[in-house]
Amino acid sequence: MSSSPTDPRFVIEGATEEQQAAVDELVKQFLLTDSQLEAITKEFRRRMEEGLVADGKVLKMIPSYVTKRPKGTETGSYYAIDLGGTNLRLIRATLDGKGGVKTEHQKFTLTEEAKARTLFDFIAQCVETFLDDRNLRPTGQQPPISMGFTFSYPVQQTSINSGILVQWTKGLNVPGCVGRDVVRLLQDALLRLGLRVKISALVNDTVGTLLSSAYANPSSQMGIIFGTGTNAAYYEDVSNVAKWKGPNPASGEMVLNMEWGAFDSDDFAFLPFTPHDIKLDRKSINPRKQAYEKMISGMYLGEIARNIILWLADQRLLFDGRSSDILNAMWSIDTSYLSAAIIDESPTLSEIQQVIEKTMGVPRSTLVDRRILRAIAHLVGERAARLSSIGVVATLLKRPELLSKPIHIGIDGSMYEHFPNFECILAKTVSRFIPEHQFKNISFSLAKDGSGVGAAIIAMLMATED
Ligand code: ADP
Ligand code: MG
Repeated sequence: MSSSPTDPRFVIEGATEEQQAAVDELVKQFLLTDSQLEAITKEFRRRMEEGLVADGKVLKMIPSYVTKRPKGTETGSYYAIDLGGTNLRLIRATLDGKGGVKTEHQKFTLTEEAKARTLFDFIAQCVETFLDDRNLRPTGQQPPISMGFTFSYPVQQTSINSGILVQWTKGLNVPGCVGRDVVRLLQDALLRLGLRVKISALVNDTVGTLLSSAYANPSSQMGIIFGTGTNAAYYEDVSNVAKWKGPNPASGEMVLNMEWGAFDSDDFAFLPFTPHDIKLDRKSINPRKQAYEKMISGMYLGEIARNIILWLADQRLLFDGRSSDILNAMWSIDTSYLSAAIIDESPTLSEIQQVIEKTMGVPRSTLVDRRILRAIAHLVGERAARLSSIGVVATLLKRPELLSKPIHIGIDGSMYEHFPNFECILAKTVSRFIPEHQFKNISFSLAKDGSGVGAAIIAMLMATED
C-alpha cells in the first residue's frame, strides 16, 4: 500500500483548505513508514526474548502446556467452550481423519450482567442448554463429558487444565477472579448445576486457533487472533525458553501464548500514539494496558475513529460542527461501520450517509463529510493492518530456520475476516521485512472458529496417549 501523502484515498475532492490540512495531519500521524515499522519490530523482538527469560515482562510468553501436534488423521467428536470478548460458543467438533472438521455450535451473547458479575454461572447455564437441547447430558451412570475451555484472557497457566487469571481485558470485569484458577471457577459453577462435565484443557484462543490450523495443515507454526482483541501463539523450541522449569516434553517444543496485545504498555515509547489513542486509553477500563491491542483490534478501532470525528467536528471541519448524543457517547461507533465505509463505492457514498445519519444520529452530511469519513476508516484500518505485521515478522524471524520450508499461519477473528484489505495489507507489509525466498514459503489462512475447534482438538490430544 502506498504511504505517500498524495495517496488518492486521502485527497478529499471538494474539501476546503482547512479540511484537507486536517486530513493531511491525520495522514502524517497514521501512515507509518517502513523504517518506523522496522524500529518497532526490533523492539518487539527484544521484548519477546525478555519474556522467554522471566515472568512478569511486557510480553508474557506464557507456556501453554501444549506440547503435541495433531496428525490430521484422528477421528471422533470432541467438545469445547469458547469464551471470546463478545460471544460464548459451545462447540462439538467431529474430526474426519483427513484434516477436516465438522462443527456443530451454538452461540450465546454475553449479557451485561455476565460481563460484570455472573460470568461463570452464565457459562455453566449455556453448557446446560447446549447439552440438553441435543440430548447429550450424561446421566449418573455415564462418564463425564470432557471439554476444552477456550479462555481468551491472560492466564498464568499452571497445568494443561488450570490457570490463574492475571487480569481482565476487552471489557470484561468480573470481580473476585483475578488471582484465581478460572477452571476451578467454571468447574464449581458446573457442579452447582449438577452437570457431569470435566474441563480437561484450558486453552487460550490463540493456542486453539493454532491447533485447529495444525489439524488441517501440519506445517502450522503460528495462530493469531484479530477479533475483539489481538494476540498470538506459536510453537517454540523449549530449549529457547529459559524460564521453563518443568519437564522437557518428548517433542522438544511447546506452544507459547505471547499475550502480544500488551506490547509497549509499560513505557508507551515505540508505538505511534496519537492524541486520539491517548484519549481512548485514558477513558478505557484498563488505562496504560494492552497498548498494541488498542491500535489493532475490533473493540477499539471504531472508538479511535469516533475521537477523530469529534476532533474534526469541534473545529467545524466535519458535519458543519454538529455532533449528536450518540457520537458523544464512548464506544458508540462499532468497527464494522469502518468496514462498511471502506466498501462503499457508490457515487454519493449512500452507505456512509446511512451510517452518519441513522447510526451516528447526525441529521445531515455533505458528500465531503462522507469522503472524510471514508478517509478516516482507511487510515485507522491501514495503521492497524500495518502494525499487525510487526508481531508476525518478529515471531517469524525469531525462528528463521523454519522459513526454509512451507510454514502456515492460522488466523481467526472478525477483523481479519471482514475488514476490507486487512489481510492483503498485512501480507504485503510482512513481505517487506522477510527475504523473498523465505516469504514465498509463508501462507496465511482463516481458521474460522479455530479457537473453539482447537480446544476440542486439545481435549482430544489429552485423551489420546502418544
Ligand atoms: P471475539 O473476539 O469475541 O472472538 P470476533 O472475532 O467476532 O469475536 O470479533 C468481534 C469484534 O470484531 C468486535 O469488536 C466487532 O466490533 C468487530 N467486527 C465485527 N464485524 C466487523 C466487520 N465487518 N469489520 C470490522 N470489525 C468487525
Ligand atoms: Mg474469537
